[in-house]
Amino acid sequence: MIDLHCHTNCSDGTLTPLQLLQLAQESGVQKLAITDHDTVAAYSQLEDIIQGSAVELIPGVEFSSQWDKHSVHIVGLNIDLQHPTLHTAVAHQFVVRGQRAMRIGFKLAQLGFGDAYAGALQLAGDAVICRPHFARYLVQQGVVTSHASAFEKYLGAGKLADIQNIWPELTTVIGWILDCGGVPVLAHPSRYKMTRSKRMNLIRDFTEAGGLALEVCCANQAHGVAEHMADICEQYNLHASVGSDFHSPNYHWVKLGKYPPLPKRCLPVWQLWQ
Ligand code: AMP
Ligand code: MN
Ligand code: MN
Ligand code: MN
Repeated sequence: MIDLHCHTNCSDGTLTPLQLLQLAQESGVQKLAITDHDTVAAYSQLEDIIQGSAVELIPGVEFSSQWDKHSVHIVGLNIDLQHPTLHTAVAHQFVVRGQRAMRIGFKLAQLGFGDAYAGALQLAGDAVICRPHFARYLVQQGVVTSHASAFEKYLGAGKLADIQNIWPELTTVIGWILDCGGVPVLAHPSRYKMTRSKRMNLIRDFTEAGGLALEVCCANQAHGVAEHMADICEQYNLHASVGSDFHSPNYHWVKLGKYPPLPKRCLPVWQLWQ
């Protein structure tokens, strides 16, 4: 089993890097890329045990980027964790996330939830701050009954506390990953709320900027998506990545290492570094 997209509590996941690695081992995942949002902190925590681990760890990250007013996620795989560009990139995103959190907090305060910023910061702890920290706070306070409704009412794209157009351009982020010797992967292409033709434009721009793979398979994607993405990979000469986008054992509908099968005609992304 291979999983090239998942999160720890260094971003918006709930397991520590070590717990995630243990879960990978128990679940029979042989190749794992931890792809936290805009941070590679998980890898520093695992430095001492990577050598002895039965799971092959592929250094990864999930960067947030901006494309035509949409926030688009680019996974970087097999990146050089020591590369200076990576440090610059992560530092940049840390500042953007911090500023965005303040602005989300301000909007939520205007809506009557004055402690949301402090509450989310506290829940984030040492993690980079992500919208799910705000969602967790709003659930804890009884403002909403679930994370999904926190996004639906307040935090999701176009909602009251959404902050738009803050991320670096798609081309910039792809450049960072290439600089670090990594493979840029367009994460969960079917999840962006855009028309089919706009999605094709995104994939065209992604490819032209140096993007090398599409995430053809991820958990909970609709029937037929993998085949459709496989067609696009053939059309644009792209490789195919796979990943669960696992965040937490509490989200029982997503299991580490589980996603629909990769169509046989796809070129697996890991062939690019093996
Ligand atoms: P951020 O990177 O801070 O913008 O947060 C994005 C993360 O929020 C995603 O990676 C998901 O984990 C989570 N998320 C996004 N939309 C939803 C939603 N509708 N319901 C629950 N979680 C969501
Ligand atoms: Mn997430
Ligand atoms: Mn994502
Ligand atoms: Mn993700």
